[in-house]
Amino acid sequence: MRTLKRTSLFFAVLLFASLACGLPAASATPPSAETPPAEAATSLPVENEAGSAILLFDIGMHIEPMGETAQGFPSGKSDYHKPQFFERHVEDMLTLAQIVEAHGGRMTIQAQSPFTTVAIESGNTILADLAARGHELALHFHEDAHLGKNPEPLSVQQWCDVMKEEISYIMQAGGVSDIRYWSGGNLYPNLYEAAECAGLDVNSDWKSPATQSTDMSLIGVNPWRPAGGTDGADFTLFTQHDPNGAIVFLPEGQYDKENFASMRRSDDAGGDEAYFEYLKESLYASLSAAQAGKVNVFHFTVHPGEFLGDPQDPFGVIERFLTEVVDPLVASGQVQWATYSQMADAYAAK
Ligand SMILES: [Zn+2]
Repeated sequence: MRTLKRTSLFFAVLLFASLACGLPAASATPPSAETPPAEAATSLPVENEAGSAILLFDIGMHIEPMGETAQGFPSGKSDYHKPQFFERHVEDMLTLAQIVEAHGGRMTIQAQSPFTTVAIESGNTILADLAARGHELALHFHEDAHLGKNPEPLSVQQWCDVMKEEISYIMQAGGVSDIRYWSGGNLYPNLYEAAECAGLDVNSDWKSPATQSTDMSLIGVNPWRPAGGTDGADFTLFTQHDPNGAIVFLPEGQYDKENFASMRRSDDAGGDEAYFEYLKESLYASLSAAQAGKVNVFHFTVHPGEFLGDPQDPFGVIERFLTEVVDPLVASGQVQWATYSQMADAYAAK
C-alpha cells in the first residue's frame, strides 16, 4: 500500500517537477496592492550583541497551480482536484513545516488556486493550521494560470482584480485577514501598481519565466523599494530605489549564478545534495556581504513534491542543512529567522 502510494507519488512528482516553476514556459506573477497594510511595529534587530551584522533568514514555499485554476485556465499536468495528489502535497507541507519549526523557524507559504480552492471545497485546514502555527501565508501568482496566455497587455485593474480574487481564497482557506507578500507576475511592467492595488507590499523571487534566470542586478542582501517593474529586459526602474515606493523588494541573497532560483530542477544541478551545498556557499557569501546597521536578508524556495534525492530519507537533506549550517549561525547570533513580511518590516523600521 505504502509502496504503491510512493510509486504513484513518484510519477506525480516527476510530472510536477517538469512543470510549474521549473518550466521555461511557466511564469509567476504577483498582483499589486493599493493600500499597503500598515507596517507592523515588529522591528528585528540589525546587529547582534557583538555589534556585527545580522542576516535575516527564511525558507519560502511555492505552491504551484496544478489543475484548472479558479479562473478556468488549465495549468500543469498534475491536478490538485485529485485527492491523492492533493493529500500527498499536504503531507509534504506538514513535514517541511515540522522540520522548520523544530529549528525555530516559520516559513512564508505562497499559495494560489486550485490548491486554495480545493482546500476550501474539501474542508482541508492545512493552510489555516500552518498559519495558526506562525507561518506566513502569501500569494504565489502564476500570471498565465490566472489571467491566461499573454497577460502583459492586460490592464492594472484586470491584474489587481484577479490578484485580489486569489488573495481572497488564501484568506478563506487560511483563516487570515492580511496577505502582504507575493511572488510572480515578473514580466508585467505595471506589476507593482497592480500589487499595491491588491493590498500587497512585499515582493521577491524575481526570475524570468522565459529563461528561469535572475538578473544579476537583483542579487544581494539589502532590500529596497523599486521605482517600478520590469519587462524582463530593462531593469532600470526595478533596481532604482524610490523612498516612497509602496513595495519592499527582498533580494534572495548573495548568489553568484543567474539560474540559482531554478537550478534545483535542472538536470545538471547534481541533485538535492549539490543544491544544498550551493545554498550553504551562498548563505556564507551572504553573511560576508551583510553589513551592520543595515537589514540583510537571505532566503530560498522549496516546493512540496520536490524532495526526491533519497527515497529512504527524502527530507534528510534539508534537515541536515538546518542542523549543520543554519543552527550554529542562529546560536552565534549571526543569523535570525524572520518571515518575509518581518524582513520587510525590519527594513521599513530602519
Ligand atoms: Zn511557481
